[in-house]
Amino acid sequence: MIHYEPVIGLEVHAELSTKTKIFCGCSTQFGAPINTHVCPVCSGQPGALPVLNKQVVHYAAKMGVATHCQINQLCKSDRKNYFYPDLPKAYQISQFDVPICENGYVDFLVDGKPKRVRFERIHFEEDAGKLLHDEGEGTVVDFNRCGVPLIEMVTKPDIHSSAEAKEFLETVKTTLSYLQISDCRMEEGSIRCDVNVSVRPEGTEELGTRVEMKNINSFSAAVRAIDYEVERQIEVLEEGGKIVQETRRWDDSKVKNLVMRSKEDAQDYRYFPDPDLIAVEIDDEWMKQIESEIPELPQSRFDRYVNDLGLTPKEARTLSDSFEKACLVDDGAAMGRVSARALANWVLSDISKYLNDKQMELSDTKLTAEKLVAMVELIEKNVISGNAGKKVLVKLFETEDSVDQIVEDLGLKQMSDEGAIEALVDEVLAANSKSIEDYKGGKKNVVGFLVGQCMKASKGKGNPKMINQMLAKKLAER
Ligand code: ADP
Ligand code: MG
Ligand code: ZN
Repeated sequence: MIHYEPVIGLEVHAELSTKTKIFCGCSTQFGAPINTHVCPVCSGQPGALPVLNKQVVHYAAKMGVATHCQINQLCKSDRKNYFYPDLPKAYQISQFDVPICENGYVDFLVDGKPKRVRFERIHFEEDAGKLLHDEGEGTVVDFNRCGVPLIEMVTKPDIHSSAEAKEFLETVKTTLSYLQISDCRMEEGSIRCDVNVSVRPEGTEELGTRVEMKNINSFSAAVRAIDYEVERQIEVLEEGGKIVQETRRWDDSKVKNLVMRSKEDAQDYRYFPDPDLIAVEIDDEWMKQIESEIPELPQSRFDRYVNDLGLTPKEARTLSDSFEKACLVDDGAAMGRVSARALANWVLSDISKYLNDKQMELSDTKLTAEKLVAMVELIEKNVISGNAGKKVLVKLFETEDSVDQIVEDLGLKQMSDEGAIEALVDEVLAANSKSIEDYKGGKKNVVGFLVGQCMKASKGKGNPKMINQMLAKKLAER
């Protein structure tokens, strides 16, 4: 029996988070009433002229730099001609032979093993509108999405399983969010992909005939679509059949795909340079600016968290998957007052739990790296207890108050005065002579009980470490 190897290439579309559309001043805001964010340019009125949004070029180049692409500092816009009701001009402005970015790659882990997927190209283009099918009522065309800027990222056929595809897509998503160029809202269709699948006998080089699947709008749907299509192709081949190059529509609710059309070629689109737009030039100074805006990326942070902080891969991933969480740790540690490890512990425990419970992002709260550092510092200096820190944290999420103010208001300052602790311990020992005898009789575990009594007497404010030490000293003296 022949074993088949899946070969997969992805075309990922990501909406860019610019305020306005790619060729006009209309808002890109999602969810507005239908056809309220439209103008003569994005609704395809004859004679209306497009003007390229500079931010789109900036964002597309940023993704290219972050993924090791060569940036074509001189590039252009081309028309891709086809007719569909959601495309009022009957052409889409995209980039054809000179895309803004070429030949990049991303590295990531799949089941702990390193994997590289190369990019053929990244180009910018405009999104089409949306057809809203209302059963019995017909179909409404909403042009609000027409002209929302996209980047399309095309991979080489380097992916060989649905698991690799999923990790690749996650990597693209976190990279986009680190660069702050897309809001990555999957449920709003911010990231969508077309999946190209072929199979070949294991150990052979030649690519098999591919099938392209469209209409995939979640990463888990991509996994299902790939698994389905790989199996379908193997079945066809095993029965002595041939794979036909075609486009199939993935129906996620039915977990199957159906033929949409036979594959179109580039020539079917009659690409040509858009005569309404001038060439795009990114000069060296602009390039420097773009390069300077690339933050340390998730893969590199992940490695640091595992190697330098000693986090488990799972913990490191929780941090590196979220630009905000990673920054909280790294920006906080950069202040040089508390360790990255201490900050990571807080982010991985109480902070993540709070955000999960409330279904919030860090940016929805009022917590800052500066305040987290101030709080952890108070714990390390024994001014407040770790438990008190948890109470402070809740206030830090919800109010603008300073850490000192919160500690003051909640009366959380620990009793750390040597004399006061001594008085407290003396008092507790005087009231528990039986325990002292037990201690002398060898029952060392009464110390725990006595510490508890001291904490109680101090209304929880006694510094436990100091109480422990004082108790040990006093008991030894008796
Ligand atoms: P188009 O969809 O515009 O015809 P390309 O020919 O450039 O585009 O290919 C699009 C995607 O298909 C790329 O991601 C590429 O890696 C992938 N691809 C090309 N050939 C194969 C193949 N035989 N098997 C799987 N994927 C393929
Ligand atoms: Mg394609
Ligand atoms: Zn418009």
